[in-house]
Parts: sequence; structure tokens; C-alpha cells
Amino acid sequence: MANKTKFQAIKGTRDLLPPETELWNRVEQTAREVFGTYGFGEIRLPIFEATELFARAVGGETDIVSKEMYTFEDKPSGLPDPSEVPPSDYTDAVKHAIKTGQIPATVKNRNTVAVLEFQLANLEARPEEQERAYLIWSHMAGGLQLGEEVSLRPEATASVCRAYIEHGMHALAQPVKLYYMGPMFRRERPQKGRYRQFYQIGAEVLETVQPASAKATAGGAKDAPKDAAVDAEVIEMVMTYFARLGLEGVQLDINSIGHSAPAVDGKNVCRRGYVEKLKAALEKVKDKLGADSQRRIETNPLRVLDSKLESEQGIIEKLPRIGDHLCAECAKHYAELKRQLDLRGVAYKENWRLVRGLDYYMRTTFEITARGLGSQNAVCGGGRYDGLVQLLEGPPTKGVGFAIGEDRVVLSLLETKNGSAAQGRDVYIAWMGEEAQATAIRAARDLRQAGFRVELPPVEQKFGKALGQADKLGARYALILGEDEISTEQWTVKRLADSKQEKIAKAELVEFLKRELMK
Ligand code: AMP
Repeated sequence: MANKTKFQAIKGTRDLLPPETELWNRVEQTAREVFGTYGFGEIRLPIFEATELFARAVGGETDIVSKEMYTFEDKPSGLPDPSEVPPSDYTDAVKHAIKTGQIPATVKNRNTVAVLEFQLANLEARPEEQERAYLIWSHMAGGLQLGEEVSLRPEATASVCRAYIEHGMHALAQPVKLYYMGPMFRRERPQKGRYRQFYQIGAEVLETVQPASAKATAGGAKDAPKDAAVDAEVIEMVMTYFARLGLEGVQLDINSIGHSAPAVDGKNVCRRGYVEKLKAALEKVKDKLGADSQRRIETNPLRVLDSKLESEQGIIEKLPRIGDHLCAECAKHYAELKRQLDLRGVAYKENWRLVRGLDYYMRTTFEITARGLGSQNAVCGGGRYDGLVQLLEGPPTKGVGFAIGEDRVVLSLLETKNGSAAQGRDVYIAWMGEEAQATAIRAARDLRQAGFRVELPPVEQKFGKALGQADKLGARYALILGEDEISTEQWTVKRLADSKQEKIAKAELVEFLKRELMK
């Protein structure tokens, strides 16, 4: 018997199906509308980028970059398979590809080619050593870097900044406001609300700093009030969006994580000073912490504050808090952020433990949670990231933005019944007879043109069966076209909820249904 493969979506990925996809469309459409009213334009980005972009922007030590990216070599198509051609041919092909720039001319690749050539000489000169020489040759050939290392994007802020630089957007009217939506990829452990392919809707505000005030981004911003107002407006926009969607139990947490610029006089201040103190405090309680937190004391002490471990909560509550260590400018920015949120009537909760898992944030960080999601209840995360564009070789630029987890927003709407995923039809056309089919086809065309959702069965059905089908599809009305209706041009319309039936003149059908469906 032939081997039958049962294909299934890869773990952590899933198909989104109707009627739920209607809800996805509503979630996306509402974002376009609300973000549009705040002056944001859409940017569509590539799904994969140079791995180095994410390593640099998100941070090489973060979980996202060090463990969760889908990375591959973007190999040229013309190169032969080394096991299928003689070693000398393959070596020549690689040399040629390096020369023509088809594969990277890195030091490692050039050294590897030298070793390959050396082994070739061994292969030819010493027959008794051939097997060994071939093994070494093929091992070395396997170590060539045949293309640029690329990764499926785990988030999009790095790409937005890359695009900002690539297209010289600093020359546009400032600030530049962009939003995006689409799939992201992280190899996490899948569970409810956590997938390996998931969808984000995000927005970013970028503003290149004019040379006179360029020093300001180094950490001592003179214009804290302006920046804080921009942060607050971005937060107000997400909250307005969630309210428009009818998302329930929405809670906004805010914090400031200060700035991380090195001290001028050798003494660490603000975040660096705080991390020093935090680390010292953590060392004292190290024995009482779990393995993960113990490791993080060295790699990323701030992340210990993220811990959900019950046994660590009492200890963490007694640790030093960043709010007590902010420099004057960061403290001013944070105070102003709160004032600006109050001005806008946006309710928030201060959460000193909110540090977020990406390296690029500074000052403002925020997270929004919603109902119906269990432990994965964060639907949005964001913050300020002045300096990220510069880290990617662009001009000194301020930035603030957020990313919404669309999967979780949809889940929350479904759980709280604000996202009825009913698809249904407005009209099911039940027809019998050849002449009736021609009429039914025209009626379907006219109704669809008027915007109704119409089901037109491809073959004749007895009226009883047709009405049963209409019910199953959740249709609200059935248009019944039999001999009688065709000859009198008085069509029968049946409301399926209560079986109320009436005759409507052909010319009045569209108006009639518009009135009825608006009810
Ligand atoms: P982050 O980019 O990590 O700041 O995440 C922003 C938002 O994206 C989170 O608040 C989640 O709603 C969502 N998110 C992040 N990772 C996943 C995932 N693996 N599956 C589903 N949603 C996610």
C-alpha cells in the first residue's frame, strides 16, 4: 500500500477559518480607521530580513533572538550539491561564486576554500589517504556560509527603523507615523494565546532630531514634556482602538525604565545605576530564587522582575525599585507622561515591575491586558526607543510605538461574546425551473451589487430542501422564485426567523431588503 501522509499545519501555526476570519477583518479594519484618524499611514514590510538586523535591534542576549528565531542561509540557486559532483568541480564552483559575489566573501569562507584546495591536492596525490581526505574535504565544504543569514521577523519595529533609514524618511515632515499588521514568528512553546506564527498590529512614531538638539537623545532630553505628550497620544490611540472594538477588562500598566547611556564622570546613573543596585540586592537573596532567576542575575537582572513564580513574589516585592533611581530628566518625563494621560482621561496603573523583554526600550514602557485570556493576557506592549535608529546606522532619532497581539484580541472578543463570529447570509435564493434560474442569476447579481450577502444554489432544489439549507447557512431571508413569481413578477420573500412571508414587486426588492435588514 502506498504510504499515506496526513499533512497537518506545523506545530504552533494554525489556519484561520470563516466565520472567525470576519472578526479578524473587523479587528484590522477598525485599526486602519482609528490609526488613520491619528494621522498614521500603513507600511508593508518584508517577512524576512538579515538576522543581524534583529540581533542588533532586539538584542543578541534576549530570548527572542538567542532562542526563538527561524533562521536560514539564503543560498544561491546555481550551486551544485557537493555530494553529486566531483570535489574539484564543487571547489571551483565555490571559488567562482565567491568571486562573483554570489556567496559571501568572508574571511572564514576564503580560509575554507584554501583548506578545500589543500585537501584536493591530498586526494589526488595520496591514493591511500583518499577516504580520509575526502571526509575532511566534505566536512569543510559543509561549513561554508553559502548565503546571507536571514530570519523570519520576530517583531517589526526593527524593520520599520530599517525602512525609515533606507528610504531617507528623516527628510519627510516630522514626525513620521506608521502602522503595520501581519504575521510574526517566534519558536516559543505553544499554548492558548501563544503561537509560533502569530499576528501583530503595531504603530510607530519616529522623529529625527535636528543637529542643534541631537545631544538631547543621549539621555538628557531637554524636551521631556513634548516626548511625554507623544507617548501619551500613542497610548490614547491604542486605548481608543480597544474601546471601539469593545474589548473588555482592558487594563493599562505603565512604567519608566530610565535611560541607559553610560555615565560621563564614571559613575553609573539612572538605569545603569539601578541595575547595579538590583544586582547586588539579588546576589544577597540568590539562594532563595529559582534557577531561571539565578541565571538572569548575570544575563539580564531586570527580567527577574518579570517572574511569575509564586515563591519569588515576596522576595521581588522587597527589591529596590527603578522609580527611586531615575535621573532628573527621566523622572520629569515620567511625571509628565502621567499628567498627559490624565489630561486625556486615560486610566492607568503604575507597575514598577514592568520591564519588557526587548533591549531597545527606554523611559516609557507600557503593557495592556484584557479579559478572557488566562495566563497569556497581554494584548499589547510598547514603549519609547530613542536611539534605536542610530544603533542601526541612521541619524539620531526618537521613537515610540507598540505592538498588539491580534490573535489574543480576537480570542478575548470571542470569549467575552463581543466578537460574534456569525457569518451567515442575507438572502438565500430558492428557485425551481429553467426560467426561474435565469431570473435567480440576475436577482443574485443585483442583490450582490447592492452589497447583500447572497447564496445562489447551483442546481434546482425542491423548496423544502432549499429552505432547510437556507436555515443551516444562517440566512435571514429566502427569496422564492417559482413559476408563479416569474409570471406575475411578484416575488415571494420569506423571513426565516418567524416564517413571515410576503409578495414584493421585483423593482422594490432591494429597497425592501435594505429596510428590513437595517432593523
Ligand atoms: P512583544 O513584541 O513581545 O512586545 O509582544 C507584543 C504583543 O504581541 C504581546 O502583548 C502579545 O499580545 C503578542 N504576542 C507576543 N508573542 C506572541 C505569541 N507567541 N503568540 C501570540 N501573541 C504573541
